[in-house]
Amino acid sequence: MDVINLTKNLINCPSVTPEEGGALQLLQDALEPRGFKCERMKFAEVDNLYAKLDGGGRNFCFAGHTDVVPVGDESKWTFPPFEATEKDGYLYGRGAVDMKSAICAFVAAISEYQPKTGSISLLITADEEGPGINGTKKVLEALAERGEKIDACIVGEPTNPEKLGEMIKIGRRGSMNGIITVRGVQGHVAYPHNADNPVTKLVNILHELQNKVLDNGTEHFDPSNLEIVTVDVGNKATNVIPAEARAVFNIRFNNQHSSASLKEWAKSVIIANGGEVEFHVSGESFLTKPGELSEIMAKAVAEVTGITPVLSTTGGTSDARFIADYTEVVEFGLINKTAHQVDERVLLHEIQALQDIYLRTLKAYFG
Ligand SMILES: [Zn+2]
Repeated sequence: MDVINLTKNLINCPSVTPEEGGALQLLQDALEPRGFKCERMKFAEVDNLYAKLDGGGRNFCFAGHTDVVPVGDESKWTFPPFEATEKDGYLYGRGAVDMKSAICAFVAAISEYQPKTGSISLLITADEEGPGINGTKKVLEALAERGEKIDACIVGEPTNPEKLGEMIKIGRRGSMNGIITVRGVQGHVAYPHNADNPVTKLVNILHELQNKVLDNGTEHFDPSNLEIVTVDVGNKATNVIPAEARAVFNIRFNNQHSSASLKEWAKSVIIANGGEVEFHVSGESFLTKPGELSEIMAKAVAEVTGITPVLSTTGGTSDARFIADYTEVVEFGLINKTAHQVDERVLLHEIQALQDIYLRTLKAYFG
């Protein structure tokens, strides 16, 4: 199987979230002749693919997404975003690094190797870049319900900042937003006793929230961080005490906390100072402790690239946060520099190197 051809064909599928765009069908057509049982799992408007080569034993899963973000201003692209084009050793196209090439690298790896005992599966969604409600999360729930077990999982998101081999992700911080409202009584600044200034209270709240040391970080995580992202009063007059003041903060938190424990703390500070708050949680933190899977993967990366990867928990969220509820999960893919950008591109030899890394990981896992 030619990994570059397969990648080109996959990029050519116009699969902007939540469109399947022919992408899942293309993978199904590549996997079925190799003995994979392919199942389309559709939830609402989102199509997903679970493909399994059932050889008993442990089930090693590759998870990824075929959907891509919109192309933006198409006139700014050197080549049409859904017509994969080779130039100067690069392959250009939407999804080249995030993350169609990685899926193809894995499919090419399994076309070279199948374990004597052991199962290999792929969980591919068409809804990762969107709301993520009817994708990986729902598939995992359905699989668990029928007793289907996954023993280890690689997510093929682009994890490397500059060079292939630099970074494996073994966890992520959680993220939540708090929206604070303080209501007061409007009045003339010359007669403050007739008014109740919400800005004074808001400043006190923000000061207290900002000054709290949430933790000092752990072996695998940076310290949790609270950042005030906006303060809104919108008062254009200099002689009026305003009636209301609002602010929004975001917390990126490590596994010393949960969204529930942080909510409890923040809420108590805000209410004690006369404010109200509403929370939105984007995800909890998770960590796959360094162990068999991360060791195997790190060794494969080092063998192919000559670089010893850092086991990191930095960056934004991915579907690994859902998978972590069920099994050991690590993330490794291409370089994320041009992800979501105009002229998204990947070096051809890096797709081949990634195929080799996935192949070595599988061989080591099934020993
Ligand atoms: Zn992605």
